[in-house]
Amino acid sequence: MSDKLYYADPSLLTFTSRVTSCRPGGTKGSWAVELEASAFYPGGGGQPADKGTLTPEGGSAVEVLDVATEGAAVCHYTGHSIAPDTLVTGTIDTARRLHYMQQHTGQHILSAVMYHELNIDTLSVHLGSDYSAIEIHSPELLDDTVIRRIEDKANEIIRSSIPVKQRNPRSAESAGFLRRELKTTEDIRIIEIEGYDAVGCGGVHCSLTSGVELILWAGQEKIRGNVRTKWIIGQKAFEDVREKRIIVHTLTARYSAPQTSLVQRMEEEDQKKAALARELGIVKKRYADLCACELNRRGRQVAGSILYTGIYGDLDMNDLREVANLITAQGSRIAVLLSRSGDKGSPWILAVSHDCPFDFAGMKDRFLALIGGKGGGRHPQWQGSWDPSTGITEDGLFTCFGS
Ligand SMILES: [Zn+2]
Repeated sequence: MSDKLYYADPSLLTFTSRVTSCRPGGTKGSWAVELEASAFYPGGGGQPADKGTLTPEGGSAVEVLDVATEGAAVCHYTGHSIAPDTLVTGTIDTARRLHYMQQHTGQHILSAVMYHELNIDTLSVHLGSDYSAIEIHSPELLDDTVIRRIEDKANEIIRSSIPVKQRNPRSAESAGFLRRELKTTEDIRIIEIEGYDAVGCGGVHCSLTSGVELILWAGQEKIRGNVRTKWIIGQKAFEDVREKRIIVHTLTARYSAPQTSLVQRMEEEDQKKAALARELGIVKKRYADLCACELNRRGRQVAGSILYTGIYGDLDMNDLREVANLITAQGSRIAVLLSRSGDKGSPWILAVSHDCPFDFAGMKDRFLALIGGKGGGRHPQWQGSWDPSTGITEDGLFTCFGS
């Protein structure tokens, strides 16, 4: 049995104790080390286990990879053994512990606010490295007024620096604030936000609500017929605010607009972009018409059809298809169009009129070898990419298809 120092004093982050056993095994690492007493929290109630080190007296630090309870013992899983009876200094990863104490205590506050102010039950909890999630019993998403009310009340409780105390489960003081009926008569821990909320819990918490520092709403989604709310809590909330401030600062400079007009300015930019895209579409269509007109003047008769070959500098696949469609719509036409719009991977298209009994299969290999290309398709269109460094010309294409 190990003394659970993490319950006696959750702020204790270094301690000394003696190794009582060390044996191979464990869920992580190769060894399970037990101590007379430990401040390492072994995980539970949605709160992950601590990490850190055990340093034998006069020796080097041994990393604690995971911690868990096995019966009444707290087991520290390590990559190295430590001989029984060795005096060790336990050092807990402070940033990790404080992060999860803030997440956990913040979750208590939020669940309490939702229950006592709005009669909303908490169904499940996930404490994460970036944000924490609370699934609540609610068929509909929360509206903005309710969200603001929860966020404001939670931060008011933080500012009020209310003691977070461990109570006896039968304590009369806690009875009036119990959020959930106790399912067991065993001696379990009751965590009370003094005078406001009490609930059975085996985690480690900040001793004052002010230890949580800040709670910010981060979004919601429907899940399993309920709602999952997301919150950014503690130091993470400050980091999030700082990150967003940099983004807003960048955007205000980029759009030359104050923060309050940013959304409107971005919408205006989107509208301009959409108008430009429409204009570009019209211009491209006209350009395709011009290309088709120009191409029409230089078709050559081959075996009952008229063959057109063209190599362009700046058309993409859609443009090539547009030109090819304009040509082949006239009947008995074959259009072989290439564009140098890129290096390797530039597009080509071969299109024929529906009435044109053209057999591409018989010349496919010769054509692809000529243009250093690849691709395929089926009557009446084939397409792919080619390599402009092959130096192929429009006449070269004509010879390939016209012979
Ligand atoms: Zn708790």
